[in-house]
Amino acid sequence: MRATGLRAMHRAVASMTLHSGTPSGARGQRCVRSAASAAAAPATENAPKPIYLKDYAKPQYAFAKVDLDFALGEASTAVKSTIRVEPQSANAGDLFLHGDESVELVQIMVDGGAFTSYKRSPKGITLSGLPQSAFELVIETRIKPQENTALEGLYKSGKNFCTQCEAEGFRRITFYQDRPDVMSIFTTKITADKAKYPVLLSNGNLIDSGDAGDGKHFTVWEDPWAKPAYLFALVAGELGMIEDKFTTMTGKNVTLRIFVEEHNLDKCEHAMTSLIKSMKWDEDVFGLEYDLELFNIVAVDDFNMGAMENKSLNIFNSRLVLATPESATDADYAAIEGVVAHEYFHNYTGNRVTCRDWFQLSLKEGLTVYRDQEFSADMNSRGVKRIGDVARLRMSQFPQDNGPMAHPIRPESYIKMDNFYTVTIYEKGAEVVRMYETLLGKDGFRKGMDLYFERHDGQAVTTEDFFNAMCDANGADLSSFKPWYSQAGTPNVTVDGSYDAAAKTFTLKCSQNVPKTPGQDTKIPVMCPIAVGLVGPDGKDMELTMDGASHGTTAVLRFDQAEATYTFTGVAAKPVPSILRNFSAPVKLTTNLTEDDLVFLMANDSDAFNRWEAGQTLLRGLCLNLIKSGEPFTMPASITDAMRKILSGAKAPDADKAFIARAMMVPGEGELSEFLEQGTVDPAAVYAARKFVMTTLATELRADLEATVAANSAAKYSNEPADRAARTLKNACIGYLSYLDAPEIAAMTYERFAAADNMTDKISCLSALSGKDCPERVTALDEFYAAWKHDPLVMNKWLGIQSGSSLPNNIANVKALMKSSAFDIKNPNKVYSLIGGLCGSSVNFHAADGSGYEFLADVVIQLDDLNGQVASRMVSAFTRWKKYEPTRSAAMKAQLERILAKPGLSENVFEIVSKSLD
Ligand SMILES: [Zn+2]
Repeated sequence: MRATGLRAMHRAVASMTLHSGTPSGARGQRCVRSAASAAAAPATENAPKPIYLKDYAKPQYAFAKVDLDFALGEASTAVKSTIRVEPQSANAGDLFLHGDESVELVQIMVDGGAFTSYKRSPKGITLSGLPQSAFELVIETRIKPQENTALEGLYKSGKNFCTQCEAEGFRRITFYQDRPDVMSIFTTKITADKAKYPVLLSNGNLIDSGDAGDGKHFTVWEDPWAKPAYLFALVAGELGMIEDKFTTMTGKNVTLRIFVEEHNLDKCEHAMTSLIKSMKWDEDVFGLEYDLELFNIVAVDDFNMGAMENKSLNIFNSRLVLATPESATDADYAAIEGVVAHEYFHNYTGNRVTCRDWFQLSLKEGLTVYRDQEFSADMNSRGVKRIGDVARLRMSQFPQDNGPMAHPIRPESYIKMDNFYTVTIYEKGAEVVRMYETLLGKDGFRKGMDLYFERHDGQAVTTEDFFNAMCDANGADLSSFKPWYSQAGTPNVTVDGSYDAAAKTFTLKCSQNVPKTPGQDTKIPVMCPIAVGLVGPDGKDMELTMDGASHGTTAVLRFDQAEATYTFTGVAAKPVPSILRNFSAPVKLTTNLTEDDLVFLMANDSDAFNRWEAGQTLLRGLCLNLIKSGEPFTMPASITDAMRKILSGAKAPDADKAFIARAMMVPGEGELSEFLEQGTVDPAAVYAARKFVMTTLATELRADLEATVAANSAAKYSNEPADRAARTLKNACIGYLSYLDAPEIAAMTYERFAAADNMTDKISCLSALSGKDCPERVTALDEFYAAWKHDPLVMNKWLGIQSGSSLPNNIANVKALMKSSAFDIKNPNKVYSLIGGLCGSSVNFHAADGSGYEFLADVVIQLDDLNGQVASRMVSAFTRWKKYEPTRSAAMKAQLERILAKPGLSENVFEIVSKSLD
């Protein structure tokens, strides 16, 4: 599964304009609570109980085969489930089946006879006195997908039925052992009105279909691969389809289909191309071949997450499928390519080998994010991709690791699993997988993957099993690597370099400490692979020798002690060290590099990531000095010169313009706030310092910026990599120029907006205008609305740009937008855009009078009754309240307490709020 949401939305806006915002909250939380059951949720005194990893017990009953029969109706849907149950021991005892309160139980039968020896509780039913050998269990239920606003289980999106079962949605359909280690062969029959629902889909192969009388028809699907219930999917509706083919490496033909509403059929080509590229890449890089004759993708508008990897029937949020140059940005195109790949890659890392329990979620998500990152790096610019991924980790995961929701990539406990679809599980999890590759090399990593599949294909396993496969395949001892799975918190690593001219040695003195996190007071050192190069005075990498062994030009230090010293010998001249190349470990690094060293690395480092990082370190230092000094702001000429040099690099014929656009970015307000003391962050001060830097650079470099805009303005849109890179650079420059208080800039931006032939340029100009109090802003927004009001995905951009604006007193505008026809609180994308956009605004969300906080709490309280998962994602903007100065932190805390006092609060929101207040 891949998340979408406020951070993604906000990032899309922020990265285009170089205005930055404060990231907020955990990523990708999910919910299964309906309005009805939320009303009955326990109050604080009998608070929801956590589930612990240490309590894991194997299932006592296997489900060998499951036949599902759905009769879809307008008022309700009847579900009959026939299960071949196999007790795993002679005295297997009671059988507990998960089931939501919203599911009506019609009847239970065992081996053809009525069965009444069961007890129903709020979370399911317990069956007792069952046969001691294999038996047939039939359960009939009735559900109301039409009333399901949590968008979990079976629900309606527009006129169509669809499902979302990860993590615990299947229990909203029927009573079942809804846990990933219960894997079964599913057959699914769907019967529905033929006119309303001409398309009826489920997992696997279509084995039967026909007329069912009374204007109805049916299909029967059989999935030959055993799977947990969370991978079950069903879609029924009136959908158009595009079709293509893929021939696998052993010559098997696979039919590929993408289903969307008829009027969107012209927007699917990019998703199809991305799917075909993914299938080929997984064969080339990992030797993994698709295992069925059919692969379906369905796009739906109402979806909590980004997309879901259900076996052979992936269901996507429509924003991650639909794209044309006129309606989607370059960033949307990249996101579609990455997420289509991510879900496809899950077919092996997630579906064929799945998780034993949800504490192991990173087993499939960390690994699959790593795989989609590598795929995107191979398809695009590797350096720029890595920079983007690390920027995202720092903007969203580092704050989580340093706050009340800090948890290891393998958590010890949870109240609501939905709350653990986080940047830690996903992005930090991917970094942990990447470190195996750094430590074992590409070939060693592949050997580990091969052994992992050889041992565990068809099983539900743990992160320990993955670790063992990596070690055993390589004969490696990585025991000091294990704390990455059990310890929360971002390690602080300090590396000081010193040159001994007489001995011709260069020594790196390293130290590390992992900070305390909630529930974890003591930590132990963890193995951090530190990739190091030494750049000589000529700007070239030196050949490295340590302990008599050659290390090429980049050595990987296996640093796993609290302190250690590494010495390179035969170093002829004083080098500048390039430390943590390619961000080889997810740590906070401090070095003794000087400003001159950083400027030198910016110009010379062969490692693209560290070339970028050197500039970021300079800019971060500047901003933090401005924030902390209390003196009037001044700008050092050295930094302006360095930025001018970067920008002038764009004139070179072989310039990497996407990299230059990245290198020009000033660290965001969220990232800067992370470097400030707990209890001191004043968002207005952080905003003012960053704005000063942007405005000063824009003023000093105005001529260069305008020249770069002119030189990179294409006459006509093209989607070739070089054109995309030029577009990124041009729009970064327009973003910079928007900081100038000059009417002619606003006029130029509006002209470009009006003339743009693609959404990337349109939205960049609109975004550049959004923070300016000028007539062009109003005109552009009105024209954009008139042109796109028919397209809900484009309207999300329109909502987000307005709510993220830094114009003062913007809350009133956001409230008005909530009443507009472009908004619908039941649609997660719209909430993420409008409300999430506001949460990224230092000026308005963090308004000194607390009005932004009060507004968000009002929305959370309203949302909690509709969709606890989306509500918990929104409330996450409050989790770091202790970080802020006393007035704001008190105001945020008061809102958290107000939310906690809401009767019948969902478990999702309860968990986030109560942990934040702890
Ligand atoms: Zn995933």
